[in-house]
Amino acid sequence: MAEDISVDVAVIGAGPGGYVAALRAEQLGLKAAVIEREFVGGTCLNVGCIPSKALLEATHLLSKIRTADALGIKVGEVEVDFSRMQAHKSRVVSILTRGVAGLFRKKDIDLVEGMGRFVEPGVIQVELTAGGTQTVRADNVIIATGSVPIAPPGIEFDGHRVITSREALELEEIPKRFIVVGAGYIGLELGSVYARLGSEVVVLEMMDKALPEMDAELGEAAAEQLGRQGLDIHLGSRVTGIVLEEGEAVVRYEQSGEERSLTADHVLVSVGRRPFLDGIGLEAVGLKSGQRGFLEVDNGMGTGVENIYAVGDVVATPMLAHVAMDEGVVAAERIAGQASVMEYDAIPSVVYTHPELASVGLKEEEARERGLNIRVGKFPFRGNGRARAMNDVEGWVKIIADAESDALIGAHCIGPDAGHLIHEVVVAMGYRGYAEDLALTVHAHPTLSEAFKEAAMAVDGRALHI
Ligand code: FAD
Ligand code: NAD
Repeated sequence: MAEDISVDVAVIGAGPGGYVAALRAEQLGLKAAVIEREFVGGTCLNVGCIPSKALLEATHLLSKIRTADALGIKVGEVEVDFSRMQAHKSRVVSILTRGVAGLFRKKDIDLVEGMGRFVEPGVIQVELTAGGTQTVRADNVIIATGSVPIAPPGIEFDGHRVITSREALELEEIPKRFIVVGAGYIGLELGSVYARLGSEVVVLEMMDKALPEMDAELGEAAAEQLGRQGLDIHLGSRVTGIVLEEGEAVVRYEQSGEERSLTADHVLVSVGRRPFLDGIGLEAVGLKSGQRGFLEVDNGMGTGVENIYAVGDVVATPMLAHVAMDEGVVAAERIAGQASVMEYDAIPSVVYTHPELASVGLKEEEARERGLNIRVGKFPFRGNGRARAMNDVEGWVKIIADAESDALIGAHCIGPDAGHLIHEVVVAMGYRGYAEDLALTVHAHPTLSEAFKEAAMAVDGRALHI
C-alpha cells in the first residue's frame, strides 16, 4: 500500500475539466493531486476532440488536394497511407498528453494513477493502476470524471463491428461500408472522415433533422452540404437493433412506420454520452446524481455538499471541452476563496466538418418560441472576396439581435473556418454587445470575417455586398 497523501485539492479525473482545475489551483497557491484511472488528458485529448480533429484535418487536406484542379493545380494519382495518417493522429495525441503530464511535474501536482472512490468526506481511496491502494486526503474535492457513450436499448457494443467513437478513431483499415447511428457531433465528424477516405457512409438519424440541438437552418444546410460530399443521411430513421450476421453488422431501423435494415463492416453508434460516476462512492459523502445521472451544481460548481465541486461532462451543461475547462477554473477559484461564477450565455459550439458549423447564443427558432422580438441578418460567403479566392463559398453567417435594443442574442455560421470566426460574436456577446458594434468595427479586407460584419449590417437591412 502506497503512503497516504494530504492535499488542499484532490481532482478526480484528468480530462480538460480536471487537469485545468488542478493547474489553476496550483497557480492560486493550493497543493493539488489529480487521480486518473486511464489517461492524462481524458476523453478529449486521447479519444475525443484531438484525435478526431487530427483525422478531420488530414482528410480535409485530401479533399482539397482532390479539388486543386479548379485552382490550376494538376495533381496526379493521390494515394492514402491510412496507417501513416493514424500515426500522425497518435503523435499529436502523445505530444499533447505528455505535455499535460509534464505540466503536472513542473508544477508539483501529484498524479495518482488509479480509480478513485470516496470512502468518507475528504478521503478518497485509489485502486492504483500499478496494483495496491493509496489514500488521498483532501480539504476539497473536484469531481471531473467525464462521460461515456450511451448504448440505446437493443444495441450492444462489441468493440469490432458495433463500435463507439473510440474504436472508430482506431480503425486499421478504411471500411467499405460504414453506418453511423446519430447525425450529431460525432456522427457527422467521423462520418465525414470515412466518406472522404472513400467509405460508403450512411447516417441514420431518428429526428427529422441533422444536429437537432443546433439552429434548424444550420442543421438543414449541414445535411445538404454533407450529403453532396457523399454522406447518405437518412432522417426520421430510428435504429432499433443491430445484429451480427455472417461477419457483418445488420442495422434495423424504423422509417416512416416501416421496418428497414442495412448492412455494414462497422456501425458507429453515436447517440449521445452519459455522465460517468460508476463506482465513485457518491453515497459515502451524501451526494446523489440527479436527472439523467448528472450531478447538480450551482454557478460556482458547488454540489451542495461542503467542499465538493463537480465540473465537465458530469454536470448537465454542454458536454464540451472548453466548457469543462472553464468550469474547472471556476471550481479552483471558488476553493481559493474567489467569487467566480460560470456564465453560459455565450458558449460557442463547433462541428468540425467542412464546411464547419459554429453557433453561439440562442437558436433562431428558440428566440421566436420565447416570444422575443428579433431581427435577423444573414450574409452568404459567396459575397465574400476571400471565400471566392479560396474557392470555398458554400455557407453563410446569421446574426440574431433584439429588435428594439439591437443586443446580440445569437449567431450561427456554416462555412470555411466558422469555428474560428464565431469568436468575434462570442466576445461581443460576453461584453453584452450590439449588432451595431460588429457592423461599426473595421474588418480587414479580404478576410472571411467580413461576412460577420456584413451579417451584422444585414440586421439593419444594410449589407453592402449582396
Ligand atoms: P473527460 O475528458 O471524459 O475526462 C474524465 C477523466 O476522468 C477520464 O480520463 C477518466 O478516465 C477519468 N475518471 C473517471 N472516473 C474516474 C475515477 N473514479 N477515478 C479516476 N479517474 C476517473 N468537445 C469539444 O469541445 N470539442 C471537440 O472537438 C470535441 N470532440 C469530441 C470528439 C469525440 C469523439 C468525443 C467522444 C468527444 C468530443 N468532445 C469535444 C467532448 C469532450 O471530449 C468532452 O466534453 C470533454 O472531454 C469533457 O471533459 P471532462 O474533463 O469532463 O471529462
Ligand atoms: P449528439 O447528442 O450530438 O447526437 C446524437 C444524435 O443521435 C442525435 O441527433 C439523436 O437524435 C440521435 N439518436 C439518438 N438515438 C437514436 C436512434 N436510436 N437512432 C437514430 N438516431 C438516434 O451525441 P454524440 O454525437 O454522440 O456526441 C456526444 C457529445 O459529445 C455531443 O453532444 C457533444 O457535446 C460532444 N462532442 C462535441 C464535439 C465538438 O465539439 N465538435 C464533437 C464530438 C462530440
